[in-house]
Amino acid sequence: MKTYAIAAIPGDGIGTEVVAAGVEVLHALAGRDGNFKFRVDHFDWGSAYYKKHGIMMPEDGRDQIRKHDAILFGSAGAPDVPDHITLWGLRLAICQPFDQYANVRPTRILPGITSPLRNVHGKELDWVIVRENSEGEYAGVGGRVHKGLPLEVATDVSILTRAGVERIMRFAFRLAQSRPRKLLTVVTKSNAQRHAMVMWDEIAAEIAAEFSDVAWDKMLVDAMTMRMVMKPETLDTVVATNLHADILSDLAAALAGSLGIAPTANLNPERTYPSMFEPIHGSAFDIIGKGIANPIGTFWSAVMMLEHLGEPAAATRLMQAIERVTADKRFHTPDLGGKARTAEVTAAVMDSIYGAN
Ligand code: ATP
Ligand code: MG
Repeated sequence: MKTYAIAAIPGDGIGTEVVAAGVEVLHALAGRDGNFKFRVDHFDWGSAYYKKHGIMMPEDGRDQIRKHDAILFGSAGAPDVPDHITLWGLRLAICQPFDQYANVRPTRILPGITSPLRNVHGKELDWVIVRENSEGEYAGVGGRVHKGLPLEVATDVSILTRAGVERIMRFAFRLAQSRPRKLLTVVTKSNAQRHAMVMWDEIAAEIAAEFSDVAWDKMLVDAMTMRMVMKPETLDTVVATNLHADILSDLAAALAGSLGIAPTANLNPERTYPSMFEPIHGSAFDIIGKGIANPIGTFWSAVMMLEHLGEPAAATRLMQAIERVTADKRFHTPDLGGKARTAEVTAAVMDSIYGAN
């Protein structure tokens, strides 16, 4: 029997609650399938670790998870640790060195879910947002001088490289090609940013020539937010830079009903390094420890993990279980307008995994 080694990094806040639920569901799925199992190693990195050691993860942390088949991540962030420390010290400290340059965020309005698009506008959406995950606005390049003085200067430099843009465009076109509608929207801001974003547009056009069966268009990021709300049916696969896609995917998650449902895969498509799967949401300080965090975003991320591991049947089984559970309002957590607890949703998904054929 095949054993997949999973590195679980619950992190902070509700990350710990939803990853625990995700691990339970993975084991249930393996038990139901019978052809594979998981060895899950837990790593207690995050803000508590930082308060003890002054770093978010150990110096050799990446070596400890380098050989795992995949990483299941919760979230990093605590009220009393600055956000740039939690983000750069853990999540980005894994994503960037492991070259997880393709951040993939599918969005659909799941059965039973109330969303502004479905319930107010009578529209559905079915998108995959591809976020460039290794450079751009989050390249980490910049500086700050004369702190506190009137002449203080601070910069964050956005960096795009030809190699970086080519590989994310190729990834996005390939993904669009694999989906039924074969439709890609390239998000840009080349009217105002006249260097890197112009190169971004040019490379999109170059790569498009390799994918003659994919229809594509280009959209300014500001106009894109409007199109997502007003004409969601005209979009399918979307590719955008690190910052643009970060913002657009939170909008997408809200349009699909809740941040608590949305999944992410941070992929190293070449498989030189492990890929990392995580819900889109953060630590959600307001609901920590209440047992009401929505675990669906983590379960859907586990679906993406199973697809990546090459277990499509198990991935489909889990997705169907998730959809049967969201269809039943008794299992809606408070973010979805219900009263269900994390443990109840988790148990319902596990029941559904076993009840399914
Ligand atoms: P980060 O900076 O870590 O991305 P954030 O400031 O974007 O965090 P989140 O913690 O992601 O904020 O979530 C914002 C709000 O959405 C939370 O305060 C919480 O009320 C709600 N929320 C997010 N995720 C969930 C979830 N899984 N279940 C229930 N509510 C959630
Ligand atoms: Mg956020």
